[in-house]
Amino acid sequence: MKSPAVEGKTVKTLIIATFNPHKVVEIKELLPGLSLELKCLAELPGAVPAPENGDTFEANAVEKASAAAAFSGCWALADDSGLEVDALGGAPGVRSARYAGEGRSAADNNARLLEELSAVPDGARAARFVCAVALVSPGGGAVVKRGTLEGVITRAPRGAGGFGYDPLFEAQKTGLTLAELSSSEKNLLSHRGAALRALLPELEALAGASR
Ligand code: IMP
Repeated sequence: MKSPAVEGKTVKTLIIATFNPHKVVEIKELLPGLSLELKCLAELPGAVPAPENGDTFEANAVEKASAAAAFSGCWALADDSGLEVDALGGAPGVRSARYAGEGRSAADNNARLLEELSAVPDGARAARFVCAVALVSPGGGAVVKRGTLEGVITRAPRGAGGFGYDPLFEAQKTGLTLAELSSSEKNLLSHRGAALRALLPELEALAGASR
């Protein structure tokens, strides 16, 4: 893939290996000022979603980023994330996107979560968001980092921001669901923000190596 020249410097392309537009927005907001051209899979003609066969967030993130790097010949960054609820033994976990069934909506997933937790008392509704991010080189070398955010599952949705389970997830010490926060407030606290901040040295090295 051609690298554009910006102010006389060649800038590397980094593929954000997702079709989820919400993740693209959050990841772009979390990587400001990096001298990298960010493109998501929707911008690559012929790209298809990678399978997610792994049992861990890390394995799935590497699988997605590796598929995007192999397809594009560029560096690729993937996130695999989800919600672990203690009262459900860590479910929905890596199956968070498909909790209510393949192809069902976020509203369906949220409805199932509330139903599963209907008999669980307020003191036992602890949960965490987990995010693994993988950076994979065109040659296949991978670096993986993890971030988490602790909280509790509410009894009803609150807020209109964010995506997925955000309206049901009250972040620890805030008293607010993630859907009641602005995107910049969410990014400061979130599992995705923590994982990407942990990966910043590698991303800065990649951007620096472009010059
Ligand atoms: P995947 O990483 O594409 O397997 O999907 C992750 C799923 O976990 C999403 O579809 C959401 O259901 C959930 N999820 C991950 N991160 C977030 C978040 O920041 N807010 C709300 N839900 C999330």
